[in-house]
Amino acid sequence: MPSKVVGILGGGQLGRMLAASASLLNIKVIVLDVGVDAPAKQIVASPSHIDGSFRDKEKILELASQVDVLTVEIEHVDVEALETVQKSYPNVSIHPTPSTIRLIQDKYLQKEYLSKCGCPLGPFQAIEATPEGITYAAKELGLPLMLKSRTMAYDGRGNHVLRSTDSQSIVTAIESLGSGSRKLYAEKWVPFVKELAVMVVRGLDGTVSSYPAVETIHRDNICHIVWAPFRLRNIDEDPTLPTKAEQVAKEAIKKAFEGAGVFGVEMFLLENGEILINEIAPRPHNSGHYTIEACESSQYDNHIRAILGLPLGSTRLKVGAAGMLNILGSSNDVASKSTTSSSSLTFSDDTLVNELTHIALRTPGASPHLYGKGQSRKGRKMGHVTIVGSSSAEVRERMSPLLTCLAELEG
Ligand code: ATP
Ligand code: MG
Ligand code: MG
Repeated sequence: MPSKVVGILGGGQLGRMLAASASLLNIKVIVLDVGVDAPAKQIVASPSHIDGSFRDKEKILELASQVDVLTVEIEHVDVEALETVQKSYPNVSIHPTPSTIRLIQDKYLQKEYLSKCGCPLGPFQAIEATPEGITYAAKELGLPLMLKSRTMAYDGRGNHVLRSTDSQSIVTAIESLGSGSRKLYAEKWVPFVKELAVMVVRGLDGTVSSYPAVETIHRDNICHIVWAPFRLRNIDEDPTLPTKAEQVAKEAIKKAFEGAGVFGVEMFLLENGEILINEIAPRPHNSGHYTIEACESSQYDNHIRAILGLPLGSTRLKVGAAGMLNILGSSNDVASKSTTSSSSLTFSDDTLVNELTHIALRTPGASPHLYGKGQSRKGRKMGHVTIVGSSSAEVRERMSPLLTCLAELEG
């Protein structure tokens, strides 16, 4: 049995799927999360799991004292604590490295650094969270203007689209972005035709390889659907686009970030075929869930392999195509519209989650994943469904009952 122990900061769904991959290799995992019953802790039984925050220095040091390798399922961790681990526990390796996490945590520093490294980005600038600061940025970068919090941002929480520079719009923007308490920056609006993502994995020996480019569709700033592989829109479109996206993603990781493991590279595709990087996550990513069923080795398997210095698995698609639908918590009024599952087994107290799971169970090629989160809230990531098929047309056809159900229950 391998003797190394992996510590994961964060015990949500990404930690859960990492723990599942580690368990296939008899690799012991210890999870640090405030939730006693966090999704990742449910997967691997261990008396060593720690109840506490991944922003709590003491708890991070406690975790470090018990493991050989530390990794994260979320980038919003206490980096100073990880830097202390580097000094106090020199035998514990940390992937991604604390310096990579520090850079990525601050989306403005991340962009500045990627830009220095020569990665393709849209225009952006740091701004003061004041009416003058925002008005100046709008003059420089135009409207609509994407205002973003530099830190602690996820699922679009921390983003605000400014459509006008009248005083009410500016006040609303400042209020929605923490009323001056958070550092902000602005990005020029990117009129993308599609959003793309590429998972990149780097092994301990420096080998870098990428998963296929996929199309991501967001709803309310949260990943909604992923189509793999990225499908060209028409026959006139440059057939080298997917390869180009994979190259852009790989180059960014090679040039900019240290450390082993998986990186999720989010990108915009413009009308003229240009590809710009949106942001990079130093960990497995929502848009890579599909790799569990659709690729020869999943992003979770490869993250575990990478941080332990094991041979990386193939990142190739092993099916014709795949689609992934995120299952988000619904609002209470969905319950009254419930149709299919009233007499069957209940998988979740959330009617929408339950209905989608039942439909997925009846859909060929579909694999539902529920994350074991007890409490559902509107917009909370409760699970996902991956659908594989021989072609992208077949996957879309198989996905359609799920999308119909979603539209009916939400509509
Ligand atoms: P995540 O959960 O992926 O970490 P986040 O909160 O960091 O999300 P971003 O990725 O910055 O947010 O933005 C969320 C979404 O908003 C993007 O996926 C894209 O749809 C849209 N978006 C972001 N930046 C821009 C931009 N400059 N122009 C147009 N749309 C944008
Ligand atoms: Mg982000
Ligand atoms: Mg994002």
